[in-house]
Amino acid sequence: MWFISCAFVTSRTSSESPAAVTTVVPQAEPAMSGPNYVTQSTAGSDTDPFFDLILNDDLANNAWPTKLTEYKNSGDKLSLMGQAMTPEIFDKYKDKKTKSAGWTIARAINTGTCYPTSFVGCHAGDLESYHLYSDLYTPVIENYHVGYKLDGSMKHITDMDVSKIEIDLTPDAKSKIISTRIRVARNLAFFPLNPGNGRERREEIASLLQKVFDTLEGDLAGTMYLHTSMTAEQTQQLVDDHFLFRGKDKMQAASGYHVQWPHGRGIFHSHSKEFLCWINEGDHIRIISMEKGGDVKRVFERLSRGIKAIEDGVRKVTGEANIFMSDPVLGMVTCCPSNLGTAMRGSVHILVPKLIASLGFEKLDEIARTMNCQVRGSSGEHSEVVDRIDISNWRRLGFKECDLIQDMIRCVNKMAEMEDNA
Ligand code: ADP
Ligand code: MG
Repeated sequence: MWFISCAFVTSRTSSESPAAVTTVVPQAEPAMSGPNYVTQSTAGSDTDPFFDLILNDDLANNAWPTKLTEYKNSGDKLSLMGQAMTPEIFDKYKDKKTKSAGWTIARAINTGTCYPTSFVGCHAGDLESYHLYSDLYTPVIENYHVGYKLDGSMKHITDMDVSKIEIDLTPDAKSKIISTRIRVARNLAFFPLNPGNGRERREEIASLLQKVFDTLEGDLAGTMYLHTSMTAEQTQQLVDDHFLFRGKDKMQAASGYHVQWPHGRGIFHSHSKEFLCWINEGDHIRIISMEKGGDVKRVFERLSRGIKAIEDGVRKVTGEANIFMSDPVLGMVTCCPSNLGTAMRGSVHILVPKLIASLGFEKLDEIARTMNCQVRGSSGEHSEVVDRIDISNWRRLGFKECDLIQDMIRCVNKMAEMEDNA
């Protein structure tokens, strides 16, 4: 089975202390910036691969990883990073470091080097990473966001105007929908991306966001909770209710997502829990609008307003002019290349028990892909499918948000019709 590396699995609770990590200084440059790490050969019993940053030994010594040569020779399907990387590209970049995160080519490719079944296999430490290491990221991005070209001929355009969603769910589709959720990832332009951030910077981001959440009004107003102050039961309840992220993903951990967990992580939610923000999961902020039922336009409108309120709030609190990290070609900048562009995933949970029984998950996903959508289990990526599925837009870069929501609506209407005829 193939896994997209931007995913999480299960929970380590706030009551558990972060695993102890012994810092190992590599013998050769570059010294790794940001969070502490161990290498695969020095990882001891106190190292938790689900949370701690464990580097491939060759990469820790700033050498081309022989593992990648082995994967390439195996004939197995490679991650997008594995397909793009060569020893020549590694040599070209190995003595470089980005200014803001100190991001190196070794850190960038650790996930796909340690986990060959990762789908993407690389992460970025800041905006500069995408430009400085373009021989790696350009093919990865163009392969993931099929049809989008980084040669300067295309620009990414944002459009969150709800009135541009011109189609609607059919009454039949609506009757099968349990809930609707649309999320975007956003990163603050004046911090490095999280794979390069340790506890201190994450806590700085969290305390800045606390001030921003205090500025929210009306239906967006609510409360922020830090993982370090919630009980294990509170955290689990929010995860079970589909509101909160869980951490504990080996592939993400290999990029540095979960270092010094749970410090600096948290959640904000409005009183109704229809507007939420995740703090310092993979990206600095995931902004989420969700509710029961299938009123997609209402969910989209709330999200659009919420994104603007967060942006205005950060501007007010910091005095900065440029709030969210973005690029004219890459759109919104995220640490995983798969989320670039809109950084948006709009989904519904829909009851289609007959389709699941007759066609199965893989086939349904295949059908959804022909309509530019994807299918997931209803407890998040890689989760089990019982009687309902998560249908969402698959494309993110080079398309307007309102158009991607229309992709999702069309696919959901089609699946609902197929369920009735199954
Ligand atoms: P992403 O990382 O794109 O936000 P995941 O697939 O990792 O999405 O899921 C994150 C959480 O959001 C999970 O708990 C999942 O069940 C929940 N979720 C996703 N879509 C919906 C939806 N339409 N209704 C309710 N919960 C949802
Ligand atoms: Mg996810």
